[in-house]
Amino acid sequence: MSLRNGKEFLMIPGPTNVPDEVLRAMHRPAVDIYEGPLVETTEFCMDGLKRLFRTEGKTYIYAANGHGAWDAALCNTLKRGDRILVLESGRFAIGWGEAASVTGLDVEVLPGNWEKGVEPDRLEERLRQDAAHEIAAILVVQVDTASGVWNDVAALRKAIDAANHPALFMVDTIASLGCVPFEMDAWGVDVALTGSQKGLMCPPGLSFVAAGPKADKAHETADLRTNYTDWTFRQGAEHYQKYCGTPPEHLLFAFRKALELLFEEGLENVWRRHALLGEATRRAIAEWSKGGAVQFNITDPAARADSVSVMRFSEGDAAALRAFTREVCGVTVGGTIGALSGKGIRIAHMGHVNAVMLLGTLSAIELGLARLNIRHGKGGVQAAMDYLAEAL
Ligand SMILES: *Cc1c(COP(=O)(O)O)cnc(C)c1O
Repeated sequence: MSLRNGKEFLMIPGPTNVPDEVLRAMHRPAVDIYEGPLVETTEFCMDGLKRLFRTEGKTYIYAANGHGAWDAALCNTLKRGDRILVLESGRFAIGWGEAASVTGLDVEVLPGNWEKGVEPDRLEERLRQDAAHEIAAILVVQVDTASGVWNDVAALRKAIDAANHPALFMVDTIASLGCVPFEMDAWGVDVALTGSQKGLMCPPGLSFVAAGPKADKAHETADLRTNYTDWTFRQGAEHYQKYCGTPPEHLLFAFRKALELLFEEGLENVWRRHALLGEATRRAIAEWSKGGAVQFNITDPAARADSVSVMRFSEGDAAALRAFTREVCGVTVGGTIGALSGKGIRIAHMGHVNAVMLLGTLSAIELGLARLNIRHGKGGVQAAMDYLAEAL
């Protein structure tokens, strides 16, 4: 028997639920790319990106997914053969490093594991060894969607400063911007990037890069530039140059609407909503964990992300649980990827998510755990509600 008919939820860590207002914003005829509403929309989006990243730096919009922004950040700031240091805490910084290798950079990984965040002390130690300052850039993700970790970007910056190291500091906020606090300028981040389809509630297809003064300076001598990603060309006077060709009009109208929704709610409120829903999820997982078959992937509670939770299974079938929530309850939760492939589930609480969607998702999971006889502590959803009743 299926209870699936009704409003379905997509609770995977990207792409995420797109608000109806954002979908409707795209439902309009194409417009002129040289003047009129599109030019004004570009200005709104560029300015909105500064407000999102919290920067006075320059912002760029690419008709690309997050991988495109990875390339843009590297190509615009680095030279062939430059050494970069990738801080491991899951899948995604490693993936960015792999992109860097293809681009012609010399990639070193500071090894970490999938159960905790990058340790600032270890970064400082490695940078102190680099007396010749061979490392040109340091790459990290704020939230890794594969492991569910949240990295303390401000603490990593302090480690770089403590080692007195001049490398560019680049942060991937694809799974965290518009979900958790990020302060590009206050934290001394030189390049930050994100994508449209996670916290920013849009369809996939746009990505964004912000560059501070140190990155601008590095750009002057960067020799990996490509025509499409080039910041210099994109700073040109003509509107089309901002996109190096035809602007992705409908996605821009969507993004503009999403920005309006975020600013209407207020960024601080958006962060608080994610913090509350993230903690409610953790309260449920903590209860379920008492049965012995499931547990948090991230062992350090302070390093668990407010935008996605990763739950590992030591027994029971994670794929069967996901099939149950999807086919019987109408909610799709994420499977685990990379080194955790097949070993757990990822519950996204990212973007356009409210209490009903989250509590409904947790209920479907708890129902599935019971139905599939996966050993778990009962009362996870109750614990989530008890928490919200106190915290709201
Ligand atoms: C999703 C994700 C990416 C990849 O983004 P794409 O749009 O799929 O290229 C990169 N980094 C993080 C942290 C992500 O969550």
